[in-house]
Amino acid sequence: MAYYDFKCESCGHSFEVKTSPHDLDKVQCPQCEGKSLKRIYGHFGMFVRMGKYSGTSGPRQGPGSEPPVPPACLDCSRSG
Ligand SMILES: [Zn+2]
Repeated sequence: MAYYDFKCESCGHSFEVKTSPHDLDKVQCPQCEGKSLKRIYGHFGMFVRMGKYSGTSGPRQGPGSEPPVPPACLDCSRSG
């Protein structure tokens, strides 16, 4: 059993239903008993956590920050 968010396209009523994935087609609007429902997936975004980008100490590679560039490549100049 899991929670699913729906929005009724008939009356615009949004509601949450606790059901199994196999019974999703049986869900109907509790307000107008309509069956033209639209799934709302907004809640999934709340479970995604960007844990790797916490903290501000030290250089980090990621969106918005450039990777650290070494000041010089000593080995390259020696062997070349
Ligand atoms: Zn409805």
